[in-house]
Amino acid sequence: MTVALCLYCGSFKLGALVPCPACGHERTGDTGLDLSFSDWYISPVTLEALGGVVRTIRANAGDPELTLWTFLSYLNGDQVTPPAAHQAAVDTLLRKLSLPKVEIQPSGRAAGTPPAPPERTIRDEALSGLVLVTVVGGTAWLLMSLEQPVLALIFGCVGGLLWRRLRRRGPRTIAVQGTPPAP
Ligand SMILES: [Zn+2]
Repeated sequence: MTVALCLYCGSFKLGALVPCPACGHERTGDTGLDLSFSDWYISPVTLEALGGVVRTIRANAGDPELTLWTFLSYLNGDQVTPPAAHQAAVDTLLRKLSLPKVEIQPSGRAAGTPPAPPERTIRDEALSGLVLVTVVGGTAWLLMSLEQPVLALIFGCVGGLLWRRLRRRGPRTIAVQGTPPAP
């Protein structure tokens, strides 16, 4: 079931195309817009943050239509032209309210979302670690045998830093055969 944001009051509703149980307002009528603000396209964390923005606007605007147009203008700036009747009020509200900037993270549920790049597996990491240890260790040993302990120490430190970088890069997963479960 899709969880969607009511763009008139900031409450959540089950289904993007149904009236809001909290404020009773019908959907916007623009299906693309109604669907956009659902967990199908936007991550739940982002939806919650955007809901907070809508609730703040609604608390100050009072009027649901003014809330919608203020919210759309907040998101899209100059690309949105509110109806003339709301234009001045939208500008005033946006100036008055210091609305937080919300970074919109996609949910990844929508069909057609490009698949995530392949993650590094534990085997990849072990192999690159092994190569690094061999190269750094071998070079350090060579420098020591050439009686260059300072150079060997520096090389060892650089190797350690490289190793930490390597381990920090991306989540580790165990390669699993088969298709991932449906969302
Ligand atoms: Zn509502």
